[in-house]
Amino acid sequence: MTQPTAAVRDRVRTLRSEDLPAYCYDLTALRNHAGRIRASLPGRVELYYAAKANPEPEILAALRPYVHGYEVSSGGELTHVRKAVPGLPLAFGGPGKTPAEISTALSAGVERFHVESPHELHLLAALAERHAPGRRVAVLPRFNLPGPGDALDGSALAMGGRPAPFGLDPAQADHTVRLLTDGTYPHLELRGVHAHLASGLDAPAQLAVADSVVAWATALAARHRVPLPEVVVGGGMAVDYTAPDSRFDWAAYGAGLARIVAGHPELTLRIEPGRALTAYCGWYVTEVLDVKHSHGEEFAVVRGGTHHLRTPATKGHDQPCTVLRTDTPWPHPWPRPAARGDRVTLTGQLCTPKDLLARNVPAPGLRAGDRVAFGLAGAYAWNISHHDFLMHPRPGFHFLGAPEGG
Ligand SMILES: *Cc1c(COP(=O)(O)O)cnc(C)c1O
Repeated sequence: MTQPTAAVRDRVRTLRSEDLPAYCYDLTALRNHAGRIRASLPGRVELYYAAKANPEPEILAALRPYVHGYEVSSGGELTHVRKAVPGLPLAFGGPGKTPAEISTALSAGVERFHVESPHELHLLAALAERHAPGRRVAVLPRFNLPGPGDALDGSALAMGGRPAPFGLDPAQADHTVRLLTDGTYPHLELRGVHAHLASGLDAPAQLAVADSVVAWATALAARHRVPLPEVVVGGGMAVDYTAPDSRFDWAAYGAGLARIVAGHPELTLRIEPGRALTAYCGWYVTEVLDVKHSHGEEFAVVRGGTHHLRTPATKGHDQPCTVLRTDTPWPHPWPRPAARGDRVTLTGQLCTPKDLLARNVPAPGLRAGDRVAFGLAGAYAWNISHHDFLMHPRPGFHFLGAPEGG
């Protein structure tokens, strides 16, 4: 929903100008959304949340009843997530894991390692001997598999099946399986395989990916006569910033996954979405500071900008937004800046033309002092932004609704 929820509107009404900009997260909306996603998934399909989308502890805790675990991509994330939601399984992925990070993960008892290269496999084996004596560490090598047909063509960010720093080349699959099953590494256990091929895929494309990854893994297991009981088919479920009210078709996706697992009775499938779980629960709310006319176009400058909400700048879109009019009287003797036309481009306070939040927004009569709530700001928003550029103050943070329980 682009429109802020009632809880967010109520909170915004209580905030003073100096309290803006602010990130408002509706945890009740998040829990409802996550509950619907979980309910659409069949048995033997596990849902892990990719923490890098938004690792705020309140968000991690709110998701806890609905996820089977969390996917972490750095030593920092794993320590942070372990503390925020103790007791839930973690899968540790990401390229370029350092020896210190791997040692930390082993000591913390991280449940699964997504191994991304031959060097990393050797390193993990050596460190497991030292840091996890007496237990076998579950390994799921990540493979850079080609996508099915042209399913990845329309994706926002394809990384599978083309040159990339992610995962192992499929040509290394047989050797990797042999190393993990011929006694070379007694401290490691080959638990399955991992793939994360693209982001921004709709449900039919995601199902085609899942089908082809499972078929590839099944053939690998058969070739080596080894079990591969777990297959991770990745995240990347689409969030459409141009159609903020439409959502990924979880019902169709869940039904398709049910067909896949029905054909593979020994298999547990795992998905690890980030964006499609948390994007919809966050709003970045701010206030119009100034409205001006420039060479035939109108601009509204808001408090804050892309140093807090970098998403539109990195993805090249217009962030969906809603104008919240205010009736506060104008406190100055000169005229209140206001838009004369129907369309206004919303920019931030940074001294760069890249500080664009949304272009040509229909906002007739927008005035200084009005407020704007940018939606779909719950994922890859604050945590990917360059906070210190220009040294403006940080936004406030409001977590609304109960993080757990009804
Ligand atoms: C980032 C990432 C995800 C989550 O991707 P979304 O597009 O946020 O769903 C899942 N798995 C891996 C390995 C990732 O790097």
